[in-house]
Amino acid sequence: MQFRDLPKQYEVLKAQIDAAMIRVAASAHFISGPEVKELEKTLTEYVGAKHCITCANGTDAITIAMRAWGVGKGDAVFVPDFTFFSSGECPADEGATPIYVDVDQRTYNLDAAKLEEAVKKVIAEGKYKAKAVVAVDLFGLPADYPAIKAVCEKYGLLLLEDAAQGFGGSINGRKTCTFGDISTTSFFPAKPLGCYGDGGAIFTDNDEWATLIRSICVHGKDMSNPNDPNAKYNNVRLGKNSRLDTLQAAILLPKFKAFADYELADINKVAGWYTEGLRDTGLVLPEIKDGFYSSWAQYTVQLPEGTDRKKVQDQLKAVGIPCMVYYPKPMHSHGAFTGTDSAVADCPVTERLCKTVLSLPLDPYKTKEEIDLVVSELKKAL
Ligand SMILES: *Cc1c(COP(=O)(O)O)cnc(C)c1O
Repeated sequence: MQFRDLPKQYEVLKAQIDAAMIRVAASAHFISGPEVKELEKTLTEYVGAKHCITCANGTDAITIAMRAWGVGKGDAVFVPDFTFFSSGECPADEGATPIYVDVDQRTYNLDAAKLEEAVKKVIAEGKYKAKAVVAVDLFGLPADYPAIKAVCEKYGLLLLEDAAQGFGGSINGRKTCTFGDISTTSFFPAKPLGCYGDGGAIFTDNDEWATLIRSICVHGKDMSNPNDPNAKYNNVRLGKNSRLDTLQAAILLPKFKAFADYELADINKVAGWYTEGLRDTGLVLPEIKDGFYSSWAQYTVQLPEGTDRKKVQDQLKAVGIPCMVYYPKPMHSHGAFTGTDSAVADCPVTERLCKTVLSLPLDPYKTKEEIDLVVSELKKAL
């Protein structure tokens, strides 16, 4: 069994994806080809944002957002302690100090009450300027934006939505990638909407930021005449070389259609089979609150405390079932932050999750039989 069955997806979409790849190869329009614009238009319409600027990957997307806001030295950026490394790496890379905040143990997402405590503490101490929040839609579930936004508004913080895992999710019908002042996503192959390499996108409703972001993506090019092909040889700020390849955009167009037409609904159905099958096992299952809709980047359960997780994983592996640990380490305890104020955090929920979580095989193409097999083998292993 595949953890996420990308070969199966390719088999289903092969005709369209092959045609798209060949079309781009034949056109030789490899950088900023028409498919890139078409994809950006398609994605803005789908999520309901005003601007979409594609870029090289989801990590660049966060870094570029931070740079557009001028986040840097002396700024505190609040980040969940339980997430993929990029969420904290990017603000730190711009010179800011990530302050790690604990998460909710059922949704795995940033705990808004703890966020407010952390913000108050930073303001009271006065060492850093409380500048921004990176909220993460972990495992596909949108963070608690109504509560997080209230904190951001109260303390004048910018909000970045890291929707690298959250594309397709929603709260009361409003889609992810629209909750942040700037929102970002990733098209890494295993994400809910993945391409065939690295890719990312940045969303915002703010015209000024959108222009700035487009400039940063192409070496800080002059945007006063955006259609001037020589603009990138007039550099008005420091930027990056961060673009989505035409080839990846061309692959994403048919993949997006499948995602919106049936994959998102199907993965919700598959996740529902897990929830049903694992109900009475004593495992803590992911909780989707009323009004929330997940795009299920992962189905992550919590084993009873004290369970030998490695042994469970090995037993499942022996019968051909791959499971993963997302994430084994709290952000604040990564060696990269040793000796900095980012290494100081009080996050008992994250500490416990890192010891107990296990992510099960999941994708829209899994059958009921496959999920039943994982459920029964997992029960056996416990
Ligand atoms: C994958 C991921 C990223 C980074 O995306 P890349 O495209 O791999 O650079 C950022 N944040 C989170 C939460 C992620 O899961």
